[in-house]
Amino acid sequence: MSDQQIIQCLIIGAGPAGYTAAIYAARAGLKPVMYTGLQPGGQLMITNDVENYPGYPEGIMGPQMMEDFKNQAERFGTDVRFGLATKVDFSKRPFKITIDESVEVLAETVIISTGASAKWLGMESEQRLNGHGVSACAVCDGFFYKGQDVVIVGAGDTACEEAHYLSKLCKKVTMLVRRDEFRASKIMANRVKNTPNIEIFFNTEAVEVMGEKVVEGVKVINNKTQETSIISATGFFVAIGHEPNTAIFKGWITMDEQGYLITKPGTTQTNIEGVFAAGDAQDKIYRQAVTAAGTGCMAALEAERFLAAVESEAAVH
Ligand code: NDP
Repeated sequence: MSDQQIIQCLIIGAGPAGYTAAIYAARAGLKPVMYTGLQPGGQLMITNDVENYPGYPEGIMGPQMMEDFKNQAERFGTDVRFGLATKVDFSKRPFKITIDESVEVLAETVIISTGASAKWLGMESEQRLNGHGVSACAVCDGFFYKGQDVVIVGAGDTACEEAHYLSKLCKKVTMLVRRDEFRASKIMANRVKNTPNIEIFFNTEAVEVMGEKVVEGVKVINNKTQETSIISATGFFVAIGHEPNTAIFKGWITMDEQGYLITKPGTTQTNIEGVFAAGDAQDKIYRQAVTAAGTGCMAALEAERFLAAVESEAAVH
């Protein structure tokens, strides 16, 4: 089945980056069409209170905030459609994007805002208590554990950065490192090692997050001695990396070895003219709703300028 309408600005992904791009594109008269993917709202749908997004002095629930973003995008005419982009053909404009492996849409510009997904350990208890003490974002949720004891898993730069962040808020941070060394850069690892209220357990893995309705502790095992123990904690942070949702763009858009899309510095332009990338799909450092929204705005402005340039070029010829 083919939908022959040519969309001026197609937005793939419905998190803060995508909705912000939609608001700007719609207000610029580009009649944007957004395909939401399987989790409209993105990572904020699994966050409780968001207290660091400017404009919400009392904080807001993640899902409500995404509903507000969506309403604002729709108010200016964004056509929000539930559907997953499963294939792209960026060989020429208009670009061809396949939705749900069946519908083909054509678009003059594409804004990729497919986000990233936190990696999880895969324990049943981790999933069950997600949002009730289990989190994959210390900057988002650390504040709720002020003065309390928390556990963090991971040994990369993210884990070190988040452990250090938590150490300033929490009474004690226990860090679980599965090998006998860090993966993080020396400077980050040293910062963690030199922080008095961070205790590091090497060769240690989480077996189970304890608690019925909220986190009460973490059962861990030393993978050298097989000895198990329970650490009392009210928060359990998983910081073992993120995975950008960019698999369908492989071969078309230049990406780094982890799959993050590469954009021209200071812009959201990818290696393909007319294709822009915003939000966590191209950002492994900041990963905040507000930075994603910022790059979503940039992408829409750049798409608008691109279309205007193409139009004026066509008028000359
Ligand atoms: P990384 O992939 O670098 O590190 C992931 C960590 O999680 C590793 O230590 C890994 O252990 C551990 N891990 C993975 N799976 C498991 C598991 N199942 N159980 C226990 N531990 C596990 O991811 P990061 O998010 O830390 O960093 C991603 C990139 O972003 C890196 O290039 C990093 O340098 C960069 N970054 C830079 C920052 C900065 O410069 N300020 C801040 C944050 C990130 P193991 O070592 O045993 O494999």
